[in-house]
Amino acid sequence: MALTKEQIRQIAEQTKNSLASGGSGGYAGGAAQCLFDDVNDAIETAIRAQQRLAEMTLEDRSKLVEAMRVCARAHAEELAILAHEETGYGKVQHKIAKNLLAANKTPGVEDLHPTAYSGDDGLTLVETAPYGVIGSITPSTNPTATVINNSISMIAAGNAVVYNPHPAAKRASQRAMELLNQAIVDAGGPNGLITAPKEPTMDTSAVLMSHKAIKMLAVTGGEAVVAVAMKSGKKCVAAGPGNPPVIVDDTANIPDAAKKIVDGASFENNILCVAEKECFMVASIADELMSQMQRNGAWRVYGEDIDKIVRTVLIQKDGKYVINRKFVGHDATYILRESGVQFTGDPVLVIAEVDRCHPFVEVEMLMPVLGCVRVANFDEALSEAFRAEHGCQHSALIHSTNVHNMSRAARKMNTTIFVKNAPSYSGLGFGGEGYTTLTIATPTGEGLTSARSFTRARRCVLKGDFRII
Ligand code: NAD
Repeated sequence: MALTKEQIRQIAEQTKNSLASGGSGGYAGGAAQCLFDDVNDAIETAIRAQQRLAEMTLEDRSKLVEAMRVCARAHAEELAILAHEETGYGKVQHKIAKNLLAANKTPGVEDLHPTAYSGDDGLTLVETAPYGVIGSITPSTNPTATVINNSISMIAAGNAVVYNPHPAAKRASQRAMELLNQAIVDAGGPNGLITAPKEPTMDTSAVLMSHKAIKMLAVTGGEAVVAVAMKSGKKCVAAGPGNPPVIVDDTANIPDAAKKIVDGASFENNILCVAEKECFMVASIADELMSQMQRNGAWRVYGEDIDKIVRTVLIQKDGKYVINRKFVGHDATYILRESGVQFTGDPVLVIAEVDRCHPFVEVEMLMPVLGCVRVANFDEALSEAFRAEHGCQHSALIHSTNVHNMSRAARKMNTTIFVKNAPSYSGLGFGGEGYTTLTIATPTGEGLTSARSFTRARRCVLKGDFRII
C-alpha cells in the first residue's frame, strides 16, 4: 500500500484540479452540485433533496448507503492524502485506515428499529423518523472520515446534511462531500443530500445554527464549538473533547501493555479524541513499563529536555497552557527536532515521566507526547486518572488482569468508551468488536453515534384493531 512521494504528489494535484474545476470526481451520473457560494442555497437544495429521499423506499435508501460505501472505499487513499497534505496532521496510512473503517463499519439502514406495543387497547408503533436537514460542523482532525461516517449515518436515517467543515481542512472535507453526493446521484438518489458552503466560516456556521429549516445540529470539535451549538436552542448531537487516561496496574502484562499504549498513542500522531493522552503507572511496574515502551518505538525524555518540549509545543494563555497548533498531529521526530532534543532512530512517540499536574497530563495534547505519572497503587492511579479526564466522560483505558480493578475503574471513570487491555482505537471498532463512529457524542449522551442517533421517535396508536391474538 505504500505510495511513492511522486504518486502522492500526482494524486493531490489531480484532486486540486478537480476541485478547482468543480469536477465530479470521475462519476458518470447526472449533474450533482454539492458546494454553493451562498450557504442558504446549500440549505435550500438539501431541503428539496431530503423531501425526495422521504418518498423513496428503505431499499432505495440502502442502495444509496451502499453507493456511498463503495465510493468511500474507492477514494479512501486519495482523501487520506489530501487531508494529510492540507492539515499536516497524522499519517497517510492511518488516515486510509480511518476512511475504510468509516466506509465499512458505520451502520446503515439496518440500525433503525421500530418498536411495537400490543395489548388490550390495540397496537402502538414507535418509528425512527428522520429529523429532516441536519447542520453538521466537522473537525480538522478527522476531516474525511467524519464526513464519510456522518453522511452514512445521517442519510441512512433519512436525513440530508449541510456541512460547515473546519476551514483548515476545507478542501479534503469538501472533496469527500462532493464524491459522496455524486455517488448518491449516480445510484439514482436526489442531488443535494450532502451540501456545504464553498467558503465555510463562522458566519456560515451561525447561519446553520439559526436557520429554521435545520432541525438538528451535529457538531464535532473542542469546547468552544460544543458550547455555541448547545446554546443554539436546536436539538444537538455534540461530539466534544476528551483527555483519555490509561491506567497500568501491577497485575498487567507489561510488555503487552507497553506495545498497545505506544500503538494507540502514536496512531495518527495522537489526534484521535479517544487516544491515550496520559498514563498512570503503579510504581512497582513503572520502570519496566517505560523501558518496554522505549522498546516499542517510544523516545523517553528527561529533565531539561521535557522543559524544552513544553516551551515548544505549548503556549501560556490566561494563566493556562494551550497547544501550539503548529505541532498538532505532527510526528514525534518533528517535535523532538523543533524542541532541540537529541534523539536517534525514528521514534513514533515521546514519553516523559512527569508530575501529576504537569501540562502533558492536564492538556489535551493532540500530538504524540505522552506524560507518564508514577503512583503508589491502583487506588491512586484511579483517582488521578479520574481527575485528569476533567469530567469529559469521553474515554479511558486500563491494562490489568485484575477483574475487580477493571470493574472499579470502568465504574468510577464513567466514560462513554472504556477500553481494557487494548489500544484506544479498539474502542472505535478498529481491532475491537462493535460498529464504528467518528462522532462520539459525549456531552449530549448519544455516545457512539449511528443512524438511530439522527432520528426522532414518532408514535402511532391504533385503538382496538390489528392485534392477531
Ligand atoms: P475545533 O474545535 O478547532 O474545530 C471543530 C469545528 O468547530 C470546526 O469546524 C471549527 O471551524 C468549528 N468551530 C470552532 N470554534 C467555533 C465557534 N466558536 N463557533 C462555531 N464553530 C466553531 O476542533 P479541531 O481541532 O478541528 O478538532 C479537535 C477537537 O475535536 C479535539 O478537542 C477533539 O477531542 C475533538 N474531537 C472530538 C470527537 C468526538 O467524537 N467526540 C471527534 C473528533 C474530534
